Amino acid sequence: MTEKLQPETLTATALAWIDPETDAMAFPLRPSTSFLRDPMDLNRTGRMFTRDDNPTFAQPEALINALEGGVGCLLFASGMAAITSIFQRLQSGDHVILPKLVYSGLRDWINTHGLRWGLEATYVEECTATCVKAAIKRGKTKVIWLETPSNPTWTITDIAEVSAIAHAAGALVAIDNTVATPILTRPIEHGADIVLHSCSKYMNGHGDLIAGAVVIAKGHENVLRDIQQIRNEYGGVLGSFEAWLLLRGMRTFAVRVKTASTSARKIAQFLDQSDLVQQVLYPGLETHPGHVIAAKQMVGGFGGMLSFRVKGGERAAKLLASKVHVFRQAISFGSTESVIEHRAGMEKPDSPTPRDLLRVSVGLENTDDLIADLQQSIDMVQQYLTKEQYGD
Ligand code: PLP
Repeated sequence: MTEKLQPETLTATALAWIDPETDAMAFPLRPSTSFLRDPMDLNRTGRMFTRDDNPTFAQPEALINALEGGVGCLLFASGMAAITSIFQRLQSGDHVILPKLVYSGLRDWINTHGLRWGLEATYVEECTATCVKAAIKRGKTKVIWLETPSNPTWTITDIAEVSAIAHAAGALVAIDNTVATPILTRPIEHGADIVLHSCSKYMNGHGDLIAGAVVIAKGHENVLRDIQQIRNEYGGVLGSFEAWLLLRGMRTFAVRVKTASTSARKIAQFLDQSDLVQQVLYPGLETHPGHVIAAKQMVGGFGGMLSFRVKGGERAAKLLASKVHVFRQAISFGSTESVIEHRAGMEKPDSPTPRDLLRVSVGLENTDDLIADLQQSIDMVQQYLTKEQYGD
């Protein structure tokens, strides 16, 4: 039945589970770490200890799995714990391909721990079929990592095209779907094998929780078992309260993502007209190089994330970000409130992110208020630059 339901229905009802003991419509929080051993059978409920599994995980995992169309989902203590489990499964000498511009936390992890453990990584300039094909090492490439739209320039990858190339070479395609979310893109339908989430962002959506999730496509049940073992043995397990809170946040997931997407598109159009803006990076703009593929892959919107490059360089960009009042200058994204950040400043000094780039997460405020806030900040920066150029 759930296969036929739309994301709005799946999330609003949280799969409509009713607590069998009490008929409660909100699923209960079960903090127990241990589960009773039967004198005859050590495993009568299928649960032993919460580092393995906890009943509070069941409903959010089932909901995320239904949204992504997978064969199973596992919650993790953070997006990073979920993401790194995919690489921890690999052997020394295995090769992975990633986009050069990707979530910086992953790039940093690969460049320190991944390489130290013997993984070999190739960063492709653009995540196109041609670049990926050229980077593949037959028999060695095990994972092709994608993020689409990809942090922080929101480049778009054709998932189906890259998946076909990966599968022909015996590699798995893993997609960080945190930004697009399954409300707008279901990577497994396009051929991906593994889907990752930082649930700290849109899924929870209220900026008060760190969590991650791995979803595995049908046919890769062995990967699911490996990842479950990694979760248990490395210990990146989510707290039961966080799992319960995540499910609560997810009831409004679909409506939040769609509202943020509609607003982000209007803000991107506004910025595109500004004299102070050199370039707007948003796949919903027809001028974006990935727009046609995004329109094919993303259903119902282009997401709530956008970036823009400021004329006047890093100093002007930082000034602009410091003069907003409705937006908050902060890291992270996908919460109810809008944030803006000078992204390169948040990353390591060797970051390839352009220094004049500001990253914006559009929240649920009134769009006109957000545009007015950006306009007043742009005006201030323009006045400042004019003064600097011509004096008083
Ligand atoms: N994936 C993306 C795209 C992110 O932006 C982030 C964090 O910012 C992560 C994964 C890591 O998630 P977490 O902060 O939940 O560990």
